[in-house]
Amino acid sequence: MKGLFGMKLLEERILQEGQVRPGHVLKVDCFLNHQLDVELLDKIGEEFYRIFQNDGINKILTIEASGIAIACLAARHFKVPVVFAKKAKSKNIDGEVFTSTVHSYTYGKDYDITLSKKFLGPQDKVLIVDDFLANGKAMRGLLDVCQQAGAQVGGIGICIEKGFQPGGAQLREEGYKVASLAIVDSMSDDGLTFRAQ
Ligand code: 5GP
Repeated sequence: MKGLFGMKLLEERILQEGQVRPGHVLKVDCFLNHQLDVELLDKIGEEFYRIFQNDGINKILTIEASGIAIACLAARHFKVPVVFAKKAKSKNIDGEVFTSTVHSYTYGKDYDITLSKKFLGPQDKVLIVDDFLANGKAMRGLLDVCQQAGAQVGGIGICIEKGFQPGGAQLREEGYKVASLAIVDSMSDDGLTFRAQ
């Protein structure tokens, strides 16, 4: 833990093992979204719990695939269920799912997400978690699904926010409680800088 939201341990890991790729893409697949350091994920989950424990969260919402492990380890601390939006190709034939369209930053194209109506409703106050926040498109899709379900959003927990892209600032301006455990303010082949928070 460091300051209000920042997490020193995560920043150190990014500095040690993160790789900057063309197009302002940060690769952290050694520990966060391909190979998984479960001990680190558990500490991330613990930190989200510290930040959001008094916000009445009764469900954790994320998007497949990279969000799932983060959500599960956080859920161990909150002791609430996890539900994840699927990046589905199937159509909403029977009206049993909420759907939204997301523009993918890393793949440069649109995809649909779906979530069964069984698993989200007006009784829910959710913490939305994800690995990255950049332009906020994935988050918009999840917020859209929450709105369709009539669910309340109690908070947004992000592992790595790219502070030079507008998603986080917009969400905070709209009044969401956004906690990013590391905010990268600049990155290039020469290195990375984090926002003090
Ligand atoms: P956004 O929708 O906020 O523009 O981007 C967030 C989504 O794109 C995340 O779900 C994440 O999977 C992916 N993403 C965005 N930027 C990066 C990045 O620099 N590195 C990686 N690994 N994924 C990213």
